[in-house]
Amino acid sequence: MHGMMMNQPLSIMEILRYASGAHPGAGIVSVRTEGDIHRETYAEAYARGAQLAHGLDALGIGRGDRVATLAWNGYRHFEIYYGVSGMGAVCHTINPRLSAEQMLYIIGHAEDKVLCVDLTFVPLIEALSEHLPRNLKIVVLTDRAHMPDSRLDLLCYEEILAGKPDTYDWPHLDEQTAAALCYTSGTTGHPKGALYTHRSTVMHAMTVAITLNKSLKEGAKILPVVPLFHVNAWGLPYAAPLAGATLVMPGPKLDGASLYDLMEAEGVTSAWGVPTVWMGLRAEIEKRGRPPKGFEQVMVGGSAAPRSMIEGFEKDGIDVCHAWGMTEMSPVGTHGQLSEPMKALPWDEQMRLKSLQGRRLFGVEMKIVDEQGAPLPHDGTAMGELFVRGNTVVSGYFNNPEASDKALDSEGWFGTGDVATINDHGFLSIQDRSKDLIKSGGEWISSIDLENIVMACPKVASCAVIAVAHPKWDERPLLIVVPKGDEKPTLEELHELLLESVAKWQLPDALEFVQELPLTATGKVSKLTLRKQFEGYQLPDAD
Ligand code: AMP
Repeated sequence: MHGMMMNQPLSIMEILRYASGAHPGAGIVSVRTEGDIHRETYAEAYARGAQLAHGLDALGIGRGDRVATLAWNGYRHFEIYYGVSGMGAVCHTINPRLSAEQMLYIIGHAEDKVLCVDLTFVPLIEALSEHLPRNLKIVVLTDRAHMPDSRLDLLCYEEILAGKPDTYDWPHLDEQTAAALCYTSGTTGHPKGALYTHRSTVMHAMTVAITLNKSLKEGAKILPVVPLFHVNAWGLPYAAPLAGATLVMPGPKLDGASLYDLMEAEGVTSAWGVPTVWMGLRAEIEKRGRPPKGFEQVMVGGSAAPRSMIEGFEKDGIDVCHAWGMTEMSPVGTHGQLSEPMKALPWDEQMRLKSLQGRRLFGVEMKIVDEQGAPLPHDGTAMGELFVRGNTVVSGYFNNPEASDKALDSEGWFGTGDVATINDHGFLSIQDRSKDLIKSGGEWISSIDLENIVMACPKVASCAVIAVAHPKWDERPLLIVVPKGDEKPTLEELHELLLESVAKWQLPDALEFVQELPLTATGKVSKLTLRKQFEGYQLPDAD
């Protein structure tokens, strides 16, 4: 047929070009590793992105080459996102909390040509230098005055930009061009790369901006505590300029008091991050007796947000939106904004719904299946593995045919490894990672459910439930608690609390105390480490 619509490829750089003209008041506020606060508009970031692209041209970076980052949330990191993808290269964000071995594996697997590091990570790079590829160029994200003394041959970011033209002839890229790369560390084997395209990234930004519009609106000030090295900070560097919101980048200090002070000083309206971070902020809010001024919404995801935390924020008048997603999904899959009819429900019921993982975003399809792969009903009870499909979901893993072969089912759906129920309103409830579920006498026990309830006990700072082997029941739950104060809770009192919501046979058999829970590189409780730590644990009645 003739006379239809134009076909302009979706382009990441187009977001920043648009924001620099359409949202002149918005930009990026950054707490710098140098110690001060820096401000730039999106128009300035666009111009500096151009200077960076010229600089990378001069370093020999071409189409498809990987430019890696090892950096906190800040404006230079943001400029790299755009400059690198805009010139047709791939921005590869590395999680600095990974082990040295995993980091080296990733750098090698991605065949990174350039590595951009914050000042904080220079010692780490020096320690690893012998094992790094010889031709890897290291750029330090600072100016000449702050360049560290080092035996390594380090390039200075500001010098790379200095004197370069502030416009660039951005190439007209096919929208399926690779733009960004992020590795996800599974529980076994090497990390696997999710390779995002211009198309998937722009589509994700558009759907996130439309759906999470309470947070993403013109004039908003958004604090991404979620790192730019963890699934592109949930897409915020793309969705915020699109919506005309300013990003407030916290730099390296993420404790409750530092975040509170920054939020109050900058008038942050919405803050995004994992539950662990919000526990710190909640404690600070309780200490100071009120939330930071102007704080409207908290986005929480990455692991299950405990109901007690959600209620704490909501009682202070802060809307909590509980979201679920994963690296392979760009990452946002669902959001917990209540639908209109739900807003008329009693407060308690609203809080229960808010602690679920919420409804799907446009463009993300979900199904749950049984062990044979047959679809299960969305009735809030049937529990099965969650599969997803959509334009923002990976179709395989970067340069990894073996893992790619196993990623999709025969109908092209991606297996998330999460076990879930979906209710008749489309609300997802993640019960566990498939390998974290506890199977007792052939019946499943959800560790997330138990943890959520135990978190409501005022004597508990954090907790985790893991499966331990049992001769009769196969597996039974062990509860591991980090106590809040000196007075530790007893197993009996926690059983009493749990019995209000769960069946007797689901109660944890034993209670252990630890000083802190081991975390993974993305801030989730590492059940793998806990299971190793408590391997061979003797339950009281297991003889
Ligand atoms: P990542 O790829 O590191 O973002 O991890 C994705 C995994 O984190 C998911 O497959 C879930 O197991 C878990 N996850 C993310 N968000 C939530 C949530 N809101 N509640 C429970 N688990 C979550």
